[in-house]
Amino acid sequence: MTNRPLSNPSQASQAALPTTHRDSPRTSGASAVDPPIRCVSIDVEEYFHIEAAHGAIDRSGWGDWPPRVRRNMDLLLELFDRTGCRATFFFLGCVAERHPDLARRCVDLGHEVASHGSMHDRLHRLTPDTMRKDVTDSKRLLEDQTGQAVRGFRSPSWSLTRETAWAVEVLAEAGFEYDASVYPVSHPAYGVPDAPDRPYFLQGVEGGACILEVPPLTWRVMDRNLPVAGGGYFRLLPKSLMMRGLSQAEAQGRPGVLYFHPWEFDPDMPRMPLNMTGRVRTYTGLRSAEARLEKVLRSFDGWATIGGQLDRLNGLAKATGVFTLRRQAAA
Ligand SMILES: [Zn+2]
Repeated sequence: MTNRPLSNPSQASQAALPTTHRDSPRTSGASAVDPPIRCVSIDVEEYFHIEAAHGAIDRSGWGDWPPRVRRNMDLLLELFDRTGCRATFFFLGCVAERHPDLARRCVDLGHEVASHGSMHDRLHRLTPDTMRKDVTDSKRLLEDQTGQAVRGFRSPSWSLTRETAWAVEVLAEAGFEYDASVYPVSHPAYGVPDAPDRPYFLQGVEGGACILEVPPLTWRVMDRNLPVAGGGYFRLLPKSLMMRGLSQAEAQGRPGVLYFHPWEFDPDMPRMPLNMTGRVRTYTGLRSAEARLEKVLRSFDGWATIGGQLDRLNGLAKATGVFTLRRQAAA
């Protein structure tokens, strides 16, 4: 890695840009002839793996809940087929193990398979050693199933934050070429609000390894990054917010990376004993999600896998520079 830290990590993303780009950070790395980068990503997990169910459904009880991921993956793969969209699927290892043909099917259809870890543990619940096993097990399993290198990782529940800065070293050691885990927004459970809203090189701890970071789409309004990339925000808020975010990203030379989960397209999934907030976030908008996503996909073109765009994403990251989560190693 030839890039070096360019700024104090507590400063906003523009400050992390090399001097030559400070005057026009919104277009840095983009060329007039380059088509916009737009990617749809799917975190392939079951409804009972979600963070809202953690505590309500014990891991030992997962087997009591009927699997739905196959039905939902059928729906998504058909949707992507009819819209000509190629997507990145971040598979959970335990899902790939239970449904050993699914990852291969994605690859055969021209999609990318990447890793969402093995057991959907937020990184805060892991140590460097247990995370190393979690991610390398899932990477190896998916590579065995698909015959292709797994290049990307997304942490469960956007849990790569300043508190889990050590995880960057683990990802680099494990051979991942990119990470897509850092949400540059303010949220009580996740996010790094001052992280760049465009590709950059993520460094966990000062002096440590870096990895290409591909953040989810945000919509910049009134000096704040609004989360408009998918998930509950997509189902709870008007889809026009996502559309505006995509248009703004294109105008600013930023990629538009969206994310969804198979269970979000499943109005008939069994209802779990969640608290009120969990119920609203999980069960709102399921019936209309497919039509809404189709509308978004048809409103913009060029949907491609993240892995297929790595050369351009690395070029954009070079223009942005390095963003360091922690200036000093944790004691
Ligand atoms: Zn997840």
